[in-house]
Amino acid sequence: MSATLAAWLATHQPTILEHWRAALVADGANSLAEPATLGALYAAIVEAARDSALNDATWLPLARQSAGDQGLVQLLALPAALRRACWQVAGSTARPTRSLALLSELDGLLDRLCAGLAQRYEQELARSLQQRLEEAEFMTTQLAMASEEADAAALRISRLYAFSQALSRSLNLQDLIATIGQELQAALGADRCAIWLCAEEHVVHAHSWGYAHPLPVRQYALHDRSLVPQALQRSEPWVLEAPCAEQDGGWIDPNAAVLALPLIAGDHRLGVIIVQSGQRSFAAEQTALAQSLANQAALALESAGLYDQLKRLNAELEQRIEERTRELRTERDRLDLLFTVSSTVSSTLDVDQMLGELLQILRQRLRINHGSVMLLDAETAQLEQRATLGARPAGITRLPLGVGIAGWVAQHATPLLVEDVRRDPRWVAPESDAPYHKQGGSLLAVPLIASDEVLGVLQVSHPDVGHFTQEHLRLLTVIANEAAVAIHNAALYRYISDQATQLAAMVRAERASSSRSQAILQSIADGVIVCDCDGQVILANPASARILDQPLEELFLQNLHDVLQGLDLSGPERAPLRAVLEAPLDDGQPRQFRARFRSGPRTIDMTLGPVLTEGGDLLGGVATLRDISREIEADRLKTEFIGTVSHELRTPMTVIKGYLQLLTLPSTGELSPFQQQLVTTIAANAERMTSLINDLLDITKIESGSVELEFKPIDVARAIDLAVSGQQALLEQRNHRLTLEVAPDLPPILADGARFHQVLDNLLSNAIKYTHRGGQITIRARQVTRADLAPERGQGLASQRPYVAIAISDTGIGIAPEDQERVWERFYRVESELKVEAGGTGLGLALVRSLTRLMGGRVWLESMPGQGSTFTLLLPTA
Ligand code: ADP
Repeated sequence: MSATLAAWLATHQPTILEHWRAALVADGANSLAEPATLGALYAAIVEAARDSALNDATWLPLARQSAGDQGLVQLLALPAALRRACWQVAGSTARPTRSLALLSELDGLLDRLCAGLAQRYEQELARSLQQRLEEAEFMTTQLAMASEEADAAALRISRLYAFSQALSRSLNLQDLIATIGQELQAALGADRCAIWLCAEEHVVHAHSWGYAHPLPVRQYALHDRSLVPQALQRSEPWVLEAPCAEQDGGWIDPNAAVLALPLIAGDHRLGVIIVQSGQRSFAAEQTALAQSLANQAALALESAGLYDQLKRLNAELEQRIEERTRELRTERDRLDLLFTVSSTVSSTLDVDQMLGELLQILRQRLRINHGSVMLLDAETAQLEQRATLGARPAGITRLPLGVGIAGWVAQHATPLLVEDVRRDPRWVAPESDAPYHKQGGSLLAVPLIASDEVLGVLQVSHPDVGHFTQEHLRLLTVIANEAAVAIHNAALYRYISDQATQLAAMVRAERASSSRSQAILQSIADGVIVCDCDGQVILANPASARILDQPLEELFLQNLHDVLQGLDLSGPERAPLRAVLEAPLDDGQPRQFRARFRSGPRTIDMTLGPVLTEGGDLLGGVATLRDISREIEADRLKTEFIGTVSHELRTPMTVIKGYLQLLTLPSTGELSPFQQQLVTTIAANAERMTSLINDLLDITKIESGSVELEFKPIDVARAIDLAVSGQQALLEQRNHRLTLEVAPDLPPILADGARFHQVLDNLLSNAIKYTHRGGQITIRARQVTRADLAPERGQGLASQRPYVAIAISDTGIGIAPEDQERVWERFYRVESELKVEAGGTGLGLALVRSLTRLMGGRVWLESMPGQGSTFTLLLPTA
């Protein structure tokens, strides 16, 4: 070829390439106008121009691409566009003639190129068509195979569908088994088929087809080594081409293959289907179809089983509902009857009316014509007929407890059902055959019990033997309980209304008595204030308001504790009301406190004690206030008078005693024995007179509060010795024996020496005087504490402090109980055979008590007339 053309092409390459691309774009072949592609093609053309060989490797991809996508026409547009571009460039050069020669050369090259491209295109097209043909053939084969499979599957599906349709027609187990057998036979072309189903520990023959005789084996144990139980353990169909006939009991044909299909639904193994078709084997499709059918059959059998179970449950449920409905109806009737009975028996308190109505209800509801109620008379222990059903003769029927059926029921408090009264030994047969007497049949008798007490018996009877049931007995027992409560309530009501009538009478009487008491209380001159257990004033009379100088209404608003607190009480107890309310009894007797207080110009004597019921229960406290101002004044005047008189008497007595002493002096002259005796008598009487006056003065001093005591420790033993020696002459004169029992180490007492001596002297001289000659006087002294004393003696004493008790006992005339309190009064002397001989003024013991109290002690006496007395003196230790 031409090197010139190659050189020309190389020289004008950029311009030509640009024109080529523009021409291609103008032709609409944009996809070919890629500068890189065009560059490569152009280089190949330059190469071809140089050595005339066209490089296939450059053009081949283009040819393939064109064959695939654009077609030959488009491919041939490339050389055409190049040609146009070269022509344009050649036309624009300076030497067009030379260019024309080159262009014709180029045309030849491009023609070759076109021919080559067409050839290449054809080759590529042929190869591509061949390839597509092969693909189409392959697809056709595949489609044919798929179609075959689809047909087989469709057949299987249609069989399965038909099978499932047949199975869904019934839920009855036997129908299902028959359907399964038929379908399997039809689907597999089987001539024999046997269905075995699990039942607890066995797999049992359910149905079989195609066998000449009934199967010799009806069931296998699950653990048996035979074909059926073994197949049951599998989860896939089992094909046995040479089965062993003996092992299965001889019903399997050993010359034909066996297909054993386990029936499995979910986790449940329901049984096995054994199929034989006379062939030596089963095809895989047959086995697969058989398995699908078996699976369907298993599901249907499971559903049938469940349905069966559901049906059974449903039937059971219906039966239970029916039974429960029956029970509820019975219960409703029972409750209705009980309600009627309950409302009837509680609607009246008239027992006879109530019992009559009760029997009428029983007649209607229990359909009985005879019945009665007998009530127990507690006094006679007899059952008394109170209500009957059916005609009866007039008059009361009585039955002793324990006699007859009613008597037995009442005695044993037990309900009784008698099927046939004639056969019951407890039955008392009627003497007459009157129609109202029960001649036979059955009977119910129940006790009427309320609060554990048998009130009577309720009986109902029926002429038929065995008419009543245990249910009747239970019902009648409940009714009897209702009736018994009503009878009990009626009795209670009678009792309560009797009580209420009595109570009303009592209240009327009480009111009358209370208003009388009120009137008395209002009119008594002494003040009376009653308080409750808290001290709140609940009763006060006008006199108390007057004495306390307060309005009566205000008194009612106060607490007696506060009222007493405001008074300056003189007694030993600081809070007497509290003491009374806290301990109302003292040695079994109501406690009493006495105290005085001043209310303005008046002196009030108050006595405080508990208010107790007859049973000894504390209701509160009562204070009685007495205005003793006049008595006090009279006493004061009396004391003053006695004091004045005593003083006035003392002066002449001193003079008399002085002159008597003068008379006994030798200087006054010798007295005759008679005169001497007169003077002695006068002197003795003057002495007695002086002592009387001294006693009187002491008393007035004590009462006017002007006694001055000088307390100091005193040795008791020495004081007793001193007192005894002072009375020695008198002791000897009356020939008494004296015994001293003074405890050793006795602590000294704290007292006024002279006054203590005066007290001892008084008590000792009394013991000597009021004891017949030759008596026994004993003085005992010991240390005591409050705890050693009787409570009434120790009242008001300090609990821890030691005291000395001096007891002076005699074997004298004694003091009668009624005089024992009075001997402490001033001038009181007991009438006795020794009264004159003993002499005295009756002031001694009054002084003893007053002085002892002033010294902080106590004195008391114990005496038995004719046997002697003991005066005990108690004084605090120092
Ligand atoms: P009197 O001066 O009469 O002795 P008292 O006051 O001492 O007065 O005694 C009052 C009364 O008590 C006596 O009159 C007497 O009757 C009686 N009495 C006192 N002591 C005894 C006693 N030890 N035995 C019997 N009676 C007694």
